[in-house]
Amino acid sequence: MQEINASEFEKEVLKGGKIVLDFYSTECPPCEALAPKFNALSELYGDKIKFLKIFRQGNRELATELGVSSSPTLLFFDNGNQILDTISGGIKKSEISERLDKMITPEEVQEIKSRIRPVVSDYDVAILGGGPAGLTAGLYLGQAKIKTVLIDPALPGGYMGITHQVSNYPGFEQPQNGYMLAHYMSEQTKHAGIDFKVAVDVTSVDLVKKEIVIDQTETIRAKKIIIGTGTSPNTMNAPGEKEYKGKGISYCATCDAKYYVDKDVTVIGGGNSAVEEALFITKFARKVTMVHQFDALTANQTAIDHLIANDKISVMYSHEPRKFEKREDKMIATLENLKTKELVELEGDGVFVFIGFKANTSVLGDVLPEQDQWGYIKTDEDRKTSLPDIYAIGDIVSKKYRQITTAVADGTIAAMTISKEI
Ligand SMILES: Cc1cc2nc3c(=O)[nH]c(=O)nc-3n(C[C@H](O)[C@H](O)[C@H](O)COP(=O)(O)OP(=O)(O)OC[C@H]3O[C@@H](n4cnc5c(N)ncnc54)[C@H](O)[C@@H]3O)c2cc1C
Repeated sequence: MQEINASEFEKEVLKGGKIVLDFYSTECPPCEALAPKFNALSELYGDKIKFLKIFRQGNRELATELGVSSSPTLLFFDNGNQILDTISGGIKKSEISERLDKMITPEEVQEIKSRIRPVVSDYDVAILGGGPAGLTAGLYLGQAKIKTVLIDPALPGGYMGITHQVSNYPGFEQPQNGYMLAHYMSEQTKHAGIDFKVAVDVTSVDLVKKEIVIDQTETIRAKKIIIGTGTSPNTMNAPGEKEYKGKGISYCATCDAKYYVDKDVTVIGGGNSAVEEALFITKFARKVTMVHQFDALTANQTAIDHLIANDKISVMYSHEPRKFEKREDKMIATLENLKTKELVELEGDGVFVFIGFKANTSVLGDVLPEQDQWGYIKTDEDRKTSLPDIYAIGDIVSKKYRQITTAVADGTIAAMTISKEI
């Protein structure tokens, strides 16, 4: 693994050879989650493909020239030519190896795969998800000396890790940087003595057999499984959204707002997340235009008061995006005025989308516990689901209030219930 800068790009990348190049940033949780996967793959494929890293903030011009506008972004080169699709954001190990396999011969792929040995490990409890809910369950189970593993495709922390400031988690006089709160919680849980398998691919989950396969090769068997996989941001499914994801359209202000210093930014949404994130983006951007489908914002009054006091933000009410496209460096959002049906174009340098969330159940296999009409998992007061020995905690639970405090409460309840049963 080698780190390069823009002046070495020509010599190291354009002068031939097979290369995968990682544009990373600091204070970027998905970049940190990618690092161990990138290292592991460089050990496997390193004698055939060169693995390079480049610091995006320090090499902005080159990043812009190559169309990189989100971190992390992986680019692939063969003989000086860019090949295959770029990938960015929360990158899976399997997405990278799929591309690496296309860069070498089938015989070389086979030789690499033959070096990977399958592993089976047994635990009392497997926790899926290392957000505040999963970390708290892990803390209690570790302290109760129950053999537990916590599995997460990202680094631990969940949404806490990408929240700029948390001002309502008890115990701190001043607002806390979410990233640091995630770090403290995760270190505390590690010290309690459970195993962490993080930044892995969750290949499959079988809630009936209680088996989880990670990185395609390691099978984890558990007596009980706690589901704390949280939620994912909703997408708009407007033409252009998929195409420009990571290339002008972002879902994480903490990760990407810093690239919009003195720029014009469009924010889609009008709830708490949208307003709070728009306020954060104004620390960098020159102007923020919020686009909201209703006549009034749906955020709480404190957030709305802050927004009104901030003269960098304006709101287009009763508008909804219909299409996204890029013209030269600018992102153009075509919006429909829901009252007049008129279409207008809004030009900006980047778009951030905050329009609610959906439960992360799609990765939980074919047999799922009972869910509510919105797809959230139903539990009893001990956080037991309708499937035997399967628990659900945190934002994925069918409930009214989704906060860090309610997530840690769920983690506590499930872990204490299990501690009495095992
Ligand atoms: C922008 C924003 C700001 C917020 N601000 C605040 C605030 O100031 N105060 C507050 O109290 N709350 C806040 N919240 C809400 C709070 O962050 C959530 O309620 C809380 O994080 C939920 O915790 P969780 O552990 O249930 O889920 P999450 O935090 O969503 O964590 C879920 C974890 O599961 C992992 N995962 C996903 N799929 C899988 C899989 N297949 N297998 C294993 N793991 C998986 C994810 O990588 C993630 O680490 C905010 C939320 C957002 C989005």
